[in-house]
Amino acid sequence: MDVDGGLRWNNRFAALGPAFFTRLAPQPLPAPYWVGRSRAVARELGLTEEWMASQAALEVFAGNLALAGSAPLASVYSGHQFGQWAGQLGDGRAILLGELVTPGGAGLELQLKGSGLTPYSRMGDGRAVLRSSIREFLCSEAMHGLGIPTSRALCVTGSDAPVRREEIETAAVVTRVAPSFVRFGHFEHFSYSGQHDELKRLADYVIERFYPACRDSAEFSGNPYAALLEAVSARTAAMVAQWQAVGFCHGVMNTDNMSILGLTIDYGPFQFLDAFDPGHICNHSDPQGRYAYNRQPNIAYWNLFCLGQALLPLIGEPELAMAALEPYKTVFPRELEARMRAKLGLADEQAPDRELIETILKLLAQDRVDYTIFWRRLSQHRAGGPQEPVRDLFLDRAAFDAWMLRYAARSATVPDPAQAELMLRTNPKYVLRNHLGEQAIRAAKLHDFSEVERLLAVLEQPFDEQPERDAYAGFPPDWASSISISCSS
Ligand code: AMP
Ligand code: MG
Repeated sequence: MDVDGGLRWNNRFAALGPAFFTRLAPQPLPAPYWVGRSRAVARELGLTEEWMASQAALEVFAGNLALAGSAPLASVYSGHQFGQWAGQLGDGRAILLGELVTPGGAGLELQLKGSGLTPYSRMGDGRAVLRSSIREFLCSEAMHGLGIPTSRALCVTGSDAPVRREEIETAAVVTRVAPSFVRFGHFEHFSYSGQHDELKRLADYVIERFYPACRDSAEFSGNPYAALLEAVSARTAAMVAQWQAVGFCHGVMNTDNMSILGLTIDYGPFQFLDAFDPGHICNHSDPQGRYAYNRQPNIAYWNLFCLGQALLPLIGEPELAMAALEPYKTVFPRELEARMRAKLGLADEQAPDRELIETILKLLAQDRVDYTIFWRRLSQHRAGGPQEPVRDLFLDRAAFDAWMLRYAARSATVPDPAQAELMLRTNPKYVLRNHLGEQAIRAAKLHDFSEVERLLAVLEQPFDEQPERDAYAGFPPDWASSISISCSS
C-alpha cells in the first residue's frame, strides 16, 4: 500500500540507470514506535506536524509503508577501509527512498538506515541498533546546529525486534536527509571496475547538480573533472577545519564514508573531545589510531588522493589531478587558522596569531584541559566575566598567565562586545559528549524517549546560554571514560 503525503519527487539519482543501484523496498520493522523526530528537518522537507504525528508517517519511516512517488533503491559503491582497498561495499543497510522537492525548491534525498538486507549487505544483517541510531540522529542535528556541513536526520523509529551485536540489542531506523549521499567510494567503484562510461555519467551528474561552475571552469586547461576534484578538496578542507576547531573526531574516515559534497556523513564511533588530547582515538576498533583526532586532516587528503586516482580515467593527465589536489595543502591550514582565530575572537589577521594558537593548544594538551569548557569560559571572560574560571582549568598557571598576557595584548585590552559576540557564536556551550548520548540511550532502552527530545532541543541551539540546561555543559562524569564505542552499530 502506498501513502501520498502530498509530496513532490524528482528522483535524479534513480535516473542514472541500473548500473548504479538495485531497486528494492525496505524490510518491514515489526511494531514500530517513535524514538525521536526533528521538527526543523520536517519543516525543511515540507512535512506537516500533523502528518509527522500520524501512524502513516511512523510506518513510512519504519520501512513498512511506501510513499507514492518514491523509488526505493540501494546504491553500489566501493572504498578504501583503514587504508586497504576493500572492493565492493554498497548500501548494505540503507535504502534511498528518493529525492523530494522541498517547499524551498531544493532537492533533498531521504534515506532509511537500518532498513534491512540489500544485495550489498555482505555478512551484515541489514539492521542498525537503537543506540547507534540515536547517536547518529542527535549528532547530525548537533553538527547542523554548530554550522558544520552534515547530512541531517529527520527521525528515528524503533522496534523491540532483536538484533545481535556483542549482545542482543533492538532494531531502529534513522531517516537521513541530504542533497546527495554520493561518496568518494561511488567513484572508486566505477573506476576500478573499469565501468568508465558510468564513471563519467556519475561525475557529470554531480557536476551538473552540485558543481555547475566546474563545467565551464577555465582552470586546469578547462578540464571539468580536475575542477571537480579541486572543488571537492576545498569543501572537504573546510569541513575538516571545522571538525578540528570544534574538537570533533569522526572515527571512521574510510573513503566510503566521505561525501562528495563535503558533508559529514555516516556517524559511527564519533566523539567530541572532552579533555584536549591531540592523539585521541575515539574508535575502539582503531587501535593503531589511523583516524585519531590530529590525523584527520592528513587522512582527508589521503582520501582525496584516492578520489583523484578514481577520476584519472576522466581527468587524463596525472599532473592535472595532482595540481587539483595541491590547493588542499594551503586551503586547509588557512581555513583552520581562520576558525581558530574566530575562537579567540580575533576578527583580523596578524602575524603572531599562529604562535598564539599553537601555544594555547600545547597548554591545553599538556594539562588535559576540557576543550569545550576552556573555549566557552574564555569567551565569557572576554565578555566581561572574571578570569579565574579560565585560569582554574590549568595546572601550569604560570604558563597560562604568560599566554594570557600575550593574548590580552593582541586583543582589545578592555572587554570588547564585538569580540565577545564572535567568540560566543563560535565556541559552543553544548556539544554531544559521549556521556550525554549515553544517558539518552539508557533511558530509550527502557522506552523513555524524553531525554532524546531534551538533548535534541539543547543541541539545536549550542551557542545559546540555556541556563536551565547548564548540567549539559558540565565536565564529563568519571564514568564517561569507560564508555567504549566501536564500529559495532
Ligand atoms: P560503515 O563502517 O558503517 O560505514 O559500513 C561499511 C559497510 O558495511 C557499508 O557498506 C555498510 O552498508 C555495511 N554495513 C555495516 N553494518 C551493516 C549491517 N549491519 N548490515 C549490512 N551491512 C552493513
Ligand atoms: Mg559507511
